[in-house]
Amino acid sequence: IQQEDELDALLKQTIRASKMVEKELERLNKIENYRKEFIGDISHELKTPIFAIQGFIETLLNGAVHDDEVNEVFLHKAMKNVNRLTYLTKDLMEISRLETGELKSNMQEMFLRDVVLDVVENLQYKADKEKIELIVHDFDKNIQIRADRNQIKQVLINLIENGIKYNKVNGRVEIGLNSLKGDKIELFVKDTGIGIDPNDIARVTERFYRVDKSRSREKGGTGLGLSIVKHIIEAHGEKLSIESKPDEGSTFRFTLTKVSHVSV
Ligand code: ADP
Repeated sequence: IQQEDELDALLKQTIRASKMVEKELERLNKIENYRKEFIGDISHELKTPIFAIQGFIETLLNGAVHDDEVNEVFLHKAMKNVNRLTYLTKDLMEISRLETGELKSNMQEMFLRDVVLDVVENLQYKADKEKIELIVHDFDKNIQIRADRNQIKQVLINLIENGIKYNKVNGRVEIGLNSLKGDKIELFVKDTGIGIDPNDIARVTERFYRVDKSRSREKGGTGLGLSIVKHIIEAHGEKLSIESKPDEGSTFRFTLTKVSHVSV
């Protein structure tokens, strides 16, 4: 009987182990598929600027253009594509670090108002250039959050930049705060821009998904901004939500958790 019990235990152990192996294989398979897809996406995105640069340089080297002014235009176009490759690479590195969970959040306590004002100040020139008004609602200066400062700044930068990019002339971007239940708060970035079709809303946070590729490119977009935003917010254990009406504007909201200091 004892032998039978031992055999039974061994069998159960083996089944458990094989289930674990199966699960691990499934996980590795998923990662492998993800990597394949990611590499496919990247090569596709890199091709366009690289071919463009190649074309401009080849034309210049062939000496087909004898006009200095035209030469300069070609050089500027090549440079624009080099710049595109630079920020594409930067965003790609960020997203791959976020998606593989390599990037450890550097959590610290901070005053939310300081972070918001810092970001807005740096984006003011961009808004002015595009004739977009940036409005920051009153923020309670005592609210503190625990977060990775650079990552939260990145979220705000990406959302506000999008609000500026996908807006209309003389449009507005508002940044404000709502109180939710308990220690939760909600930051929102609301614009009076072109809006997003209901069918596209769920997809705009996918990497490289763009509603209008040429508009995004023209504005220096990479299609990675919102996917970075979503990853950062989820890594903080918070939620992102999007509300939008075509031709009227969009509101991006994300939750944050207030730090409450209990005084003794
Ligand atoms: P991109 O670099 O193209 O701006 P994002 O990931 O930031 O990439 O956004 C993905 C797409 O979602 C954009 O190309 C655009 O079509 C749409 N989008 C993002 N933000 C807004 C907004 N505030 N208003 C309208 N459309 C937006």
